[in-house]
Amino acid sequence: MTENAPVVDREARPRIVPRAEHPISRSLISKNAVRVLYRLRKAGYQALLVGGGVRDLLLGREPKDFDVATDARPEEVRALFRNARIIGRRFRLVHVHFQGEIIEVATFRGNASEEGDGEREVADGMILRDNVYGTLEEDAWRRDFTVNSLYYNIADFSVVDYTGGMEDLAAGRLRLIGDPEARYREDPVRMLRAVRFAAKLGFRIDPATEAPLFELGHLLESVPPARLYEEVLKLFLSGHGVASFELLRRYGLFGHLFPATEAALAREEQGFPLTFVTRVLENTDRRVVEGKPVTPIFLLAALLWEPVRRRAEAAVAAGTSPVQALLDAGRLEVEAQVGHVAIPRRISLPMRDVWILQDRLQRRQPSRLSRLLAHPRFRAAFDFFLLRGEAGEVEAELCDWWRRFEEGDEAEREALRAQLGGGVGARHRRRRSRRRGRKSETT
Ligand code: ATP
Ligand code: MG
Repeated sequence: MTENAPVVDREARPRIVPRAEHPISRSLISKNAVRVLYRLRKAGYQALLVGGGVRDLLLGREPKDFDVATDARPEEVRALFRNARIIGRRFRLVHVHFQGEIIEVATFRGNASEEGDGEREVADGMILRDNVYGTLEEDAWRRDFTVNSLYYNIADFSVVDYTGGMEDLAAGRLRLIGDPEARYREDPVRMLRAVRFAAKLGFRIDPATEAPLFELGHLLESVPPARLYEEVLKLFLSGHGVASFELLRRYGLFGHLFPATEAALAREEQGFPLTFVTRVLENTDRRVVEGKPVTPIFLLAALLWEPVRRRAEAAVAAGTSPVQALLDAGRLEVEAQVGHVAIPRRISLPMRDVWILQDRLQRRQPSRLSRLLAHPRFRAAFDFFLLRGEAGEVEAELCDWWRRFEEGDEAEREALRAQLGGGVGARHRRRRSRRRGRKSETT
């Protein structure tokens, strides 16, 4: 079963799969992508669909987006479209903007083994910038996985395969093109891409492609945190988060992305933290399937929760108030984390709300319940709290009370409030009427 992939002869002609022998039809490709392909071709350029779009169509899946490859230079591409913009420094690309869709057009890249011509920058084997242009064939060999290096040619509707991608696709096999270790060193993010595609497609990683994953995790430390942030979102928010997480941990990659979380998990392998993170990821995967929105705020708050909780617990034991302890712990853990995986402030600030609200939810102070319910982050904090409950970290009774309170009408809420202790409900009503009209209340 684990037989190695065949060695592909670089000198061989590409395999051309004619239209009659593959399932990709123009009707399956976005109209805008087809338009871009034809416009390039009419202008005399080569134009092919490549990457995830081709791979997913061949697998009978719905592609997330469509990437186009061409021999036209970025400036030439831009000149053909009114709505086109050149982006990127590391890799210059053209984005052609349509209503609700962007088609990415990349010029064929050349052979990755030469360096120092000013257009490619390499340091310690890592490619920092690559704007060396080349032929279709060269472009095929510099891509990451064979199944990502299949082209759909608008000239004759054939699929062009230089690297053995069709065979790997049929075998459900993920295989890096070229020498795996060198390819990971060139771009360590390819390790995360291996995990992501294995998780998403349910593919087996070819043994030679898999082996270095156990050894090279440390290379992730040299990847800009902002790029890792983007990759982390794709790993965890695309509907295959549980599988991604398990693979990342199997290969020892997770700890290079979230060291504090990994340390907490390692300490308590079978306990709450692992259950909680898994619950959150299961829940996220389910939401993606159901077409519900998912947010990095919730995901990252969950991934960092255990380190934050532990740190806050220690501070409370030393006399700090719970909310202050959560605030400080949250700030410190985020500060440490962004050195590995960046977290934009528009995400990290609401994350801290989610954490602080955990204390409010735990304590159920009658006088604060209404404001708590009205907090913009209540819904996220509440869901977070319930998942903690499912993981056994919060008493079931407390979760139950909150579930009823959240769903209940005014009368039911009044009754639930009254349960919280003698005369509390009445006192609450008095306080609330006195406060009416005040503006600057914060929870
Ligand atoms: P998705 O379904 O996530 O869009 P994708 O395969 O299209 O998957 P993209 O990140 O959109 O992934 O990249 C498009 C294509 O560009 C890939 O299929 C691959 O051929 C090439 N590519 C992307 N990233 C790399 C990389 N780090 N190294 C080499 N080739 C890459
Ligand atoms: Mg893509």
